[in-house]
Amino acid sequence: GSPWPELSAVVAGIGISGFAAADVLVQLGATVTVVDERDGDDERERATILEILGADVRLGPGSTAQLPDGVHLVVTSPGWRPTAPLLVAAVKAGVPIWGEVELAWRLRDPETPWLALTGTNGKTTAVRMLAGMLRAAGLRVGAAGNVGDPIVSAVMDPEGHDVLAVELSSFQLHWTRTLAMRSAAVLNVAPDHLDWHGSMDEYTADKGRIYSGVESACVYNVADPVTEQLVRDAEVVEGARAIGFTLGVPGVGMLGVVDDVLVDRAFIAERQTSAAELGTIADVRPQAPHNVSNALAAAALARSIGVPAVAVRDGLLAFTPEAHRIATIATVDGVAYVDDSKATNAHAAAASLASFESVVWVAGGLAKGASFDDLVTGARDRLRGAVLVGADRGLIREALMRHAPNVPVIEVSDTDNEAMDRVVQEAARLANPGDTVLLAPACASMDMFASYAGRGDAFADAVRRHERR
Ligand code: ADP
Repeated sequence: GSPWPELSAVVAGIGISGFAAADVLVQLGATVTVVDERDGDDERERATILEILGADVRLGPGSTAQLPDGVHLVVTSPGWRPTAPLLVAAVKAGVPIWGEVELAWRLRDPETPWLALTGTNGKTTAVRMLAGMLRAAGLRVGAAGNVGDPIVSAVMDPEGHDVLAVELSSFQLHWTRTLAMRSAAVLNVAPDHLDWHGSMDEYTADKGRIYSGVESACVYNVADPVTEQLVRDAEVVEGARAIGFTLGVPGVGMLGVVDDVLVDRAFIAERQTSAAELGTIADVRPQAPHNVSNALAAAALARSIGVPAVAVRDGLLAFTPEAHRIATIATVDGVAYVDDSKATNAHAAAASLASFESVVWVAGGLAKGASFDDLVTGARDRLRGAVLVGADRGLIREALMRHAPNVPVIEVSDTDNEAMDRVVQEAARLANPGDTVLLAPACASMDMFASYAGRGDAFADAVRRHERR
């Protein structure tokens, strides 16, 4: 019979993925306890539903302090650090800890291949591009992961899928055990979330877990040697191939760009031409070099399961960019105002700044322990000015003073609702026609806003008020 009814599980965290995991475990007949220190409206609402389904839910301070007796399994949430007392207690007691992804993997339809990607930046964009390519090939696609639908929900979807396109964060990968993708990609690796992982080495190693057990293609970024090393270190199925993607001319066995055409020199049938054309860089939106990388990585995953070149292009053409990712808000007096509020770390902001010729840079927020020296050094030739706002703006100012002393810097110390109006006014003053005012904060938003989206909206609203003036 099914092992699940014998199982007693604790679900750590009642966020979106914890809720989905608990829901599924109850449906399978397991005995489920859900714990969370938080007990706000969202948590209570989810708790009510889970209690009706038959779970035991414990919310509020102290409720996660102890591992209940007789537990066989802990399913944990991305927000929980491995140092959380309950997780430490589980390790000590020899109780296995899974993420929601591992649970989903154990419940999957073995006939359905999973294509997965991770990276410090570009995951959401690339996985949506991938889903579009697969759809254009006529496949029934489940897209799931870090953002959007929990993977366990996609797996349990009674409609079924021909293929799953999965976005995995380093937090999710940390708790995988038996996951083995058909094909997997690491887009890039740069410092982020080091407070969670403890060190850059551990963060990198967790990203690398995505390659473990790959059957078909390990896709890596030629421009990011760390990703190639992770492929070399991975234990994969015999016959699995390492496939690089590059913004330059691709070698044999790679995807890349020749005269603005995206070409595949990896997945081409014998006796065909030496490369398949997948579209042009003009088909990639938003138009930015790092986004061409995302498109090539997605294309490599799609091509690894035989998606035709024309479907890759159709998928790219059908792609609608998401809000707050290099979104042009307005052009006022010849100056374009662009919202890339999702650039929440230095690596993302560097890619963002590299996408424009002449930039007035709007940055600042919570630095998460990051350093801005490399970012400023790489971008200084493009900077016409900088407007800094938010808690850790001083760190960015210092980096600018060290490496770009000629760039005019204005600091906005306001934190109220009008702060973004000040920011936009100052940026407008620094900008000349032809310049771009770019919100690419290189920082998290939570010092002043509920999320990166709130920050982007505040910027866009301020730009529109500036436009009407
Ligand atoms: P994630 O899901 O990994 O956070 P997104 O697709 O939401 O990634 O993009 C987040 C931000 O990262 C974008 O706003 C952009 O500034 C930057 N970005 C996107 N793709 C890349 C890339 N390949 N390399 C560097 N930065 C990128």
